[in-house]
Amino acid sequence: MPDPASISLTSPLAPIKGIGQRTADQLAALGLTNVGKLIAHIPLRHERHEAEANVRELLPGQIVSTRGEIVATRPVGNGKRSRFEAVLMDATGRLDLVWFNAPYMRDKVIPGMRVRVQGKAKSFGYGLQLTNPKLEPLRPEHSEPDRREARIRAVYPASEEIDSARIERAIDAVLDEALPQLEDHLPEPFRVARDLPELREAYRMLHRPESMEEAARAVRRLAYDELLMLQVSVALKRAELRTRLRAPALPWTEKLDAHIRARFPFQLTDAQNDVIKEITADLSSPVPSNRLIQGDVGSGKTVVALYAMLLAVADGHQAALMAPTELLAEQHFASISRMLGGSRVRVALLTASVTGDARDGLLSALREGRIDLLIGTHALITDQVEFKSLAVAVIDEQHRFGVHQRAALRSKGAAPSDASAGAQSVTPHVLVMTATPIPRTLAITIFGDLDVSTIRSLPAGRKPIRTRVVQSPQRDEVYSFVEKRLEKGQQAYVVVPAIDASEDASGADIRGVTDVLEQLTKGPLKSRRVEAVHGRLPSRDRERIMQSFRDARIDVLVATTVIEVGVDVPNAAIMVIEQADRFGLSQLHQLRGRVGRGTHESVCILIADPTTEEARARLAAIAATSDGFALAEKDFELRGMGELFGSRQSGTPAFRVADLVRDRDLLAMARRDAMDWVARSPTLDRPEESLLKRRVLKAHGQGLALGDVG
Ligand code: ADP
Ligand code: MG
Repeated sequence: MPDPASISLTSPLAPIKGIGQRTADQLAALGLTNVGKLIAHIPLRHERHEAEANVRELLPGQIVSTRGEIVATRPVGNGKRSRFEAVLMDATGRLDLVWFNAPYMRDKVIPGMRVRVQGKAKSFGYGLQLTNPKLEPLRPEHSEPDRREARIRAVYPASEEIDSARIERAIDAVLDEALPQLEDHLPEPFRVARDLPELREAYRMLHRPESMEEAARAVRRLAYDELLMLQVSVALKRAELRTRLRAPALPWTEKLDAHIRARFPFQLTDAQNDVIKEITADLSSPVPSNRLIQGDVGSGKTVVALYAMLLAVADGHQAALMAPTELLAEQHFASISRMLGGSRVRVALLTASVTGDARDGLLSALREGRIDLLIGTHALITDQVEFKSLAVAVIDEQHRFGVHQRAALRSKGAAPSDASAGAQSVTPHVLVMTATPIPRTLAITIFGDLDVSTIRSLPAGRKPIRTRVVQSPQRDEVYSFVEKRLEKGQQAYVVVPAIDASEDASGADIRGVTDVLEQLTKGPLKSRRVEAVHGRLPSRDRERIMQSFRDARIDVLVATTVIEVGVDVPNAAIMVIEQADRFGLSQLHQLRGRVGRGTHESVCILIADPTTEEARARLAAIAATSDGFALAEKDFELRGMGELFGSRQSGTPAFRVADLVRDRDLLAMARRDAMDWVARSPTLDRPEESLLKRRVLKAHGQGLALGDVG
């Protein structure tokens, strides 16, 4: 048995008194292989455990805790209304226990075992009963101290093999030795100014809090650390980018400005002009800019991006615009070509459908600088694509792409032959646009290295869209309403969750484009021209149908979410969304944004039979507000970060302690602190920063070329 004083943070767990080989193996399966990792095991939550009393001392109406032996158990009924009853005895009396809908308790509660229980007591016959109490098996007599005082206990992530209580005991076995060895990476005055406890104190309070307040203080400190490290790494990366890379500085003149504006068929809004000002300031500098433009659906982001791209072209460089779908790329190509009709700007479209000779020709024209403005899909970031001199790269609907794709487009800066050894690399200015307004907290974490511009208002003259939620029995009424609007010459979208009908995991029907199309053309919309688009349709067919819809040769377009982004047909004033509860809030808002683009009064009808509270809340939220930013915040609250971005947003950081909904303020503070810190000390090379630097590099070192420390 090693001398306790010899325990260090890197000591293995098996030899430690109170842990042993078996437990050490079980902990190792959770990734807890040494003392340091063990004490960094973050509790899921903390629970208050009441002081234990004898059964006879317990009072009805209170949360009580006691221990004793299970003397009898009995399952009652089965199915939904089943319950499991047990009787606990101690030296002073009998306590009844009951669990509802918990058939698994049968395996957990066995006559003869000694347990500790906690729950709310109520009168039951002559005695007391606890309903759904918490239950913890006790080890043999006398090895578990009686708890005569209430205390707060940590509940740890556990496994089948090892439960939270056992993990708690293991942590207890090392904590006293381990704590003094923890070194704080935050200077004391810095910490004190932010009311953050010292690191040792934080870990003590995390594992052995004396009150819920202490537990919360510990979590706050550790969550702050986690957020600070991420933000410091972002700030370092940004500082590095700014010194190592150069972008073409694009001059701005009034004459050029007038020239560009003359191309737009409308006056820009004040909101657009504000953002253009921010962008031109970026572009006129050789520091590569990296800016997120967020603006609600229809706020007019495309022309803002076009303005930036034309600044590049005017100075003899190239520009690129990458969109997430072929449909959207094609539409951008069409509308931008229209605006630039008769000018000298050479615009080209590159998607996966451009193949063979056409593709080869396009690629060499691009390399030789005979194309000024390239619009396309992911095809833009494939290896063969080389620009002569890319100065502005725009990514539309950025949330549809991953972080890596942004980096890939950035790397297209200069053809390899231009980059002479030792010179600073040339990189384009990058603009990313999103119409899924990103809650501020998320924008900071995910796009922490971006500056953010927001187009705050829509072009004048937009009519508000009325949104109604109805249940499926009203479907006939919905489509007769649609029919009335079609009679007036308007057009409609019908959005369906899937291409083919199917069932979800719980056996509920999912509607498909193909069967909805058939149903509508046989039934309520018999006399109408109805067509379907979805992702499986060859792009040529899709484009043909979209063009017919734009030209009003089709009345109703049945579609999957392929029309979610970008599609712009002003005469379409009705949006019906089938099984709307199957869509996310931001998605519904995007879809709704397809209407309300012309002069007709527009309506969005959500057909849904929500089965969960959360789905109901989402539908109520979308019906009540048309502000995409407010909705995004709401969505974030309802579903959390993962869902909002689905699996698309690769590179989204996962946090161990921080919770972005709960810790918004902490995040804002960490961001400010990180920016200030790195502004004062761009490489963190002062001695008092070495520990912080080491920890930041350890957590986020990849991609930081600051040299490997520790
Ligand atoms: P989003 O921000 O959703 O990408 P778009 O750039 O597609 O929006 O613009 C939506 C519609 O508004 C387009 O038809 C566009 O031509 C039009 N538009 C953009 N700016 C203005 C403006 N200042 N005045 C009038 N219409 C505008
Ligand atoms: Mg757009």
